[in-house]
Amino acid sequence: MAKKPGTRMTKQRQAILDVLKSTTSHPTADWIYEEVRKIIPNVSLGTIYRNLSILKEMGEIMELDFGSTYSRFDGNPVNHYHFCCTKCNQVIDLDIDIFDTIDQDVSQATGHIVNRHRLEFYGICKDCQKDD
Ligand code: ZN
Ligand code: MN
Repeated sequence: MAKKPGTRMTKQRQAILDVLKSTTSHPTADWIYEEVRKIIPNVSLGTIYRNLSILKEMGEIMELDFGSTYSRFDGNPVNHYHFCCTKCNQVIDLDIDIFDTIDQDVSQATGHIVNRHRLEFYGICKDCQKDD
């Protein structure tokens, strides 16, 4: 994603980005808010939401929007796939290759212009399998 020129990296924005880059847990805005408050005590949840949206626009982070439930955020803006555990709700990064021809395949098959794709796998994670 192209970076939007002229968007400043403010102190608050940098703190949010640092928090997000320090974890692989794909946290919610609420979790990020609690962590950023440890660094900037007077920050508001509204500021967190606004800056998450700007960071997304800047191409610094990814938003994983799950439709009916709240979004989770990813400090890695480069496309990669996720495994979502339906038992513990963990969102885990998958170290597998991106299907780099799939956009073109869909485009050729349908005539739509495909800009990107997102892929999540759902099931029971390794940790949760041990509990059974
Ligand atoms: Zn699990
Ligand atoms: Mn991820």
